[in-house]
Amino acid sequence: MSASGKVKLDAMVVAVVGVVVAGAIYAGASVYRSHATQSAADQQTIAANDAMQRLRVTLDPNQFVGEVKRAYQIAERNPALLAQLHCWCGCDVTDGHKNLLDCYRDTHGSHCAICTGEAIEAERLAAQGTPVDKIRDALRDRYENGE
Ligand SMILES: [Zn+2]
Repeated sequence: MSASGKVKLDAMVVAVVGVVVAGAIYAGASVYRSHATQSAADQQTIAANDAMQRLRVTLDPNQFVGEVKRAYQIAERNPALLAQLHCWCGCDVTDGHKNLLDCYRDTHGSHCAICTGEAIEAERLAAQGTPVDKIRDALRDRYENGE
């Protein structure tokens, strides 16, 4: 082999090694990237679950039956909706409730036809795409004078 041939071979070896190293670095970086993305997503899931736990302020629907169970299920599913609605059963005065969600934090909602009716009606209207202020109006019209 001539001297110039040897140089060429060395150059090729360097080039091949270079490509392999670059490829390995690239692969390593993308593995790291997808790892980083995944753990960020995991952290988000953990944070979301944690928030769910802390937002789980209502009683377990399974301890009730019928319409009451349904109302507690709505409270569990849709706390943000109920928290924006007024309960017209008078519990704001008698129990210091601030909104309809409060009725489902204890057994109050289980022996109050207004609380139950409001939750069911609220979810029905929300499912139709009714905005919260319109739901609030509808509940007032329906329940401000009792059941
Ligand atoms: Zn109430």
